[in-house]
Amino acid sequence: MQCPYCGYDDSKVADSRSVSQGIRRRRQCLECGARFTTYERVDNSSMAIVKKDKRREAYDRKKLLRGIQKACEKRPLPTGAVEKLVDDIESELHLMGRSEVPSSMVGEMVMERLLKLDHIAYIRFASVYRAFTDIGSLKKEVDTIAAGHELASQLPLISREDFSSPGKK
Ligand SMILES: [Zn+2]
Repeated sequence: MQCPYCGYDDSKVADSRSVSQGIRRRRQCLECGARFTTYERVDNSSMAIVKKDKRREAYDRKKLLRGIQKACEKRPLPTGAVEKLVDDIESELHLMGRSEVPSSMVGEMVMERLLKLDHIAYIRFASVYRAFTDIGSLKKEVDTIAAGHELASQLPLISREDFSSPGKK
Protein backbone atom coordinates (compact mmCIF):
# COMPACT_ATOMS: atom_id res chain seq x y z
CA MET A 1 0.00 0.00 0.00
CA GLN A 2 1.72 3.16 -1.23
CA CYS A 3 2.04 6.19 1.00
CA PRO A 4 -0.04 9.03 -0.50
CA TYR A 5 2.48 11.58 0.77
CA CYS A 6 5.93 10.28 -0.19
CA GLY A 7 5.07 7.31 -2.40
CA TYR A 8 6.98 4.78 -0.30
CA ASP A 9 5.43 1.36 -0.79
CA ASP A 10 5.52 -0.10 2.70
CA SER A 11 3.42 0.78 5.71
CA LYS A 12 2.47 -0.75 9.00
CA VAL A 13 -1.12 -1.33 9.98
CA ALA A 14 -2.02 0.38 13.24
CA ASP A 15 -5.65 -0.68 13.33
CA SER A 16 -8.07 -2.78 11.28
CA ARG A 17 -11.78 -2.86 11.69
CA SER A 18 -14.67 -4.11 9.67
CA VAL A 19 -17.03 -1.53 8.27
CA SER A 20 -20.00 -2.26 6.05
CA GLN A 21 -18.75 -4.39 3.16
CA GLY A 22 -15.08 -3.88 3.77
CA ILE A 23 -12.08 -3.40 5.96
CA ARG A 24 -10.90 -0.03 7.18
CA ARG A 25 -7.21 0.10 8.03
CA ARG A 26 -5.23 2.84 9.74
CA ARG A 27 -1.74 2.78 8.31
CA GLN A 28 1.53 4.51 8.99
CA CYS A 29 4.19 5.00 6.34
CA LEU A 30 7.48 3.30 7.30
CA GLU A 31 9.45 5.99 5.48
CA CYS A 32 7.96 9.39 6.37
CA GLY A 33 5.71 8.37 9.26
CA ALA A 34 2.56 9.86 7.74
CA ARG A 35 -0.71 8.27 8.80
CA PHE A 36 -3.44 7.44 6.33
CA THR A 37 -6.56 5.31 6.06
CA THR A 38 -7.36 2.70 3.46
CA TYR A 39 -10.58 0.87 2.66
CA GLU A 40 -10.43 -2.61 1.23
CA ARG A 41 -13.32 -4.50 -0.18
CA VAL A 42 -13.94 -7.99 1.04
CA ASP A 43 -13.62 -10.93 -1.29
CA ASN A 44 -14.26 -14.28 0.35
CA SER A 45 -14.82 -16.14 -2.91
CA SER A 46 -11.68 -18.23 -2.50
CA MET A 47 -12.37 -19.18 1.10
CA ALA A 48 -13.30 -22.73 1.99
CA ILE A 49 -15.67 -23.81 4.75
CA VAL A 50 -14.66 -26.98 6.57
CA LYS A 51 -17.72 -28.98 7.58
CA LYS A 52 -18.02 -31.14 10.69
CA ASP A 53 -17.23 -34.26 8.66
CA LYS A 54 -14.08 -32.51 7.32
CA ARG A 55 -15.52 -32.03 3.84
CA ARG A 56 -14.67 -28.69 2.32
CA GLU A 57 -16.95 -26.52 0.30
CA ALA A 58 -16.55 -23.07 -1.19
CA TYR A 59 -17.92 -20.25 0.91
CA ASP A 60 -21.40 -19.40 -0.32
CA ARG A 61 -22.89 -16.08 0.74
CA LYS A 62 -26.36 -17.01 -0.51
CA LYS A 63 -26.42 -20.16 1.55
CA LEU A 64 -25.41 -18.33 4.71
CA LEU A 65 -27.97 -15.63 3.97
CA ARG A 66 -30.75 -18.22 3.48
CA GLY A 67 -30.04 -19.92 6.80
CA ILE A 68 -30.20 -16.65 8.71
CA GLN A 69 -33.26 -15.40 6.82
CA LYS A 70 -35.09 -18.55 7.77
CA ALA A 71 -34.37 -17.94 11.44
CA CYS A 72 -35.51 -14.32 11.07
CA GLU A 73 -38.75 -15.12 9.27
CA LYS A 74 -41.62 -12.85 10.33
CA ARG A 75 -39.46 -11.10 12.91
CA PRO A 76 -39.77 -7.30 13.05
CA LEU A 77 -36.27 -6.55 11.80
CA PRO A 78 -35.18 -3.43 9.93
CA THR A 79 -34.81 -3.79 6.16
CA GLY A 80 -31.38 -5.05 5.25
CA ALA A 81 -30.54 -6.22 8.77
CA VAL A 82 -29.75 -9.76 7.67
CA GLU A 83 -27.61 -8.59 4.76
CA LYS A 84 -25.75 -6.29 7.11
CA LEU A 85 -25.18 -9.16 9.51
CA VAL A 86 -23.70 -11.26 6.70
CA ASP A 87 -21.55 -8.32 5.54
CA ASP A 88 -20.22 -8.02 9.06
CA ILE A 89 -19.37 -11.72 9.25
CA GLU A 90 -17.67 -11.60 5.86
CA SER A 91 -15.52 -8.69 6.97
CA GLU A 92 -14.51 -10.47 10.14
CA LEU A 93 -13.69 -13.67 8.25
CA HIS A 94 -11.64 -11.63 5.84
CA LEU A 95 -9.72 -9.97 8.67
CA MET A 96 -8.72 -13.41 9.94
CA GLY A 97 -6.99 -13.93 6.61
CA ARG A 98 -7.52 -17.67 6.58
CA SER A 99 -8.10 -19.77 3.50
CA GLU A 100 -10.17 -22.29 5.45
CA VAL A 101 -12.68 -21.67 8.20
CA PRO A 102 -14.60 -24.33 10.16
CA SER A 103 -18.36 -24.15 9.71
CA SER A 104 -18.71 -24.17 13.51
CA MET A 105 -16.85 -20.86 13.67
CA VAL A 106 -19.20 -19.27 11.15
CA GLY A 107 -22.15 -20.66 13.13
CA GLU A 108 -20.87 -19.09 16.34
CA MET A 109 -20.37 -15.77 14.55
CA VAL A 110 -23.99 -15.87 13.40
CA MET A 111 -25.25 -16.72 16.89
CA GLU A 112 -23.22 -13.96 18.49
CA ARG A 113 -24.83 -11.40 16.17
CA LEU A 114 -28.36 -12.80 16.26
CA LEU A 115 -28.23 -12.63 20.04
CA LYS A 116 -27.83 -8.87 19.77
CA LEU A 117 -30.33 -8.52 16.95
CA ASP A 118 -33.32 -10.66 17.88
CA HIS A 119 -33.64 -13.28 20.61
CA ILE A 120 -36.34 -15.30 18.88
CA ALA A 121 -34.28 -15.53 15.69
CA TYR A 122 -31.33 -16.50 17.86
CA ILE A 123 -33.22 -19.36 19.50
CA ARG A 124 -34.49 -20.55 16.12
CA PHE A 125 -31.02 -20.52 14.61
CA ALA A 126 -29.50 -22.13 17.67
CA SER A 127 -32.09 -24.89 17.72
CA VAL A 128 -31.14 -25.88 14.18
CA TYR A 129 -27.45 -25.20 14.46
CA ARG A 130 -26.80 -26.69 17.87
CA ALA A 131 -29.45 -29.36 17.33
CA PHE A 132 -30.70 -29.29 20.90
CA THR A 133 -31.29 -32.90 21.82
CA ASP A 134 -33.81 -32.23 24.55
CA ILE A 135 -35.98 -29.48 25.92
CA GLY A 136 -33.63 -29.13 28.91
CA SER A 137 -30.68 -27.90 26.88
CA LEU A 138 -32.94 -25.51 24.98
CA LYS A 139 -34.30 -24.14 28.24
CA LYS A 140 -30.77 -23.68 29.51
CA GLU A 141 -29.97 -21.58 26.45
CA VAL A 142 -33.11 -19.48 26.95
CA ASP A 143 -32.23 -19.00 30.63
CA THR A 144 -28.75 -17.86 29.68
CA ILE A 145 -30.22 -15.18 27.46
CA ALA A 146 -32.76 -14.24 30.11
CA ALA A 147 -29.88 -13.57 32.48
CA GLY A 148 -28.88 -10.87 30.03
CA HIS A 149 -31.10 -7.90 29.44
CA GLU A 150 -33.91 -6.45 27.35
CA LEU A 151 -35.56 -9.80 27.19
CA ALA A 152 -38.82 -8.92 28.90
CA SER A 153 -40.44 -7.61 25.75
CA GLN A 154 -39.24 -10.42 23.53
CA LEU A 155 -39.85 -13.56 25.54
CA PRO A 156 -43.17 -13.26 27.34
CA LEU A 157 -42.88 -16.85 28.57
CA ILE A 158 -40.42 -15.68 31.19
CA SER A 159 -41.84 -13.45 33.86
CA ARG A 160 -40.33 -10.02 34.29
CA GLU A 161 -39.46 -10.60 37.95
CA ASP A 162 -37.03 -13.31 36.98
CA PHE A 163 -34.49 -10.83 35.73
CA SER A 164 -35.44 -7.45 37.08
CA SER A 165 -34.96 -8.02 40.78
CA PRO A 166 -31.93 -6.07 41.97
CA GLY A 167 -28.94 -7.87 43.38
CA LYS A 168 -29.97 -11.20 41.91
CA LYS A 169 -27.62 -12.61 39.37
ZN1 LIG B 1 5.40 8.28 3.36
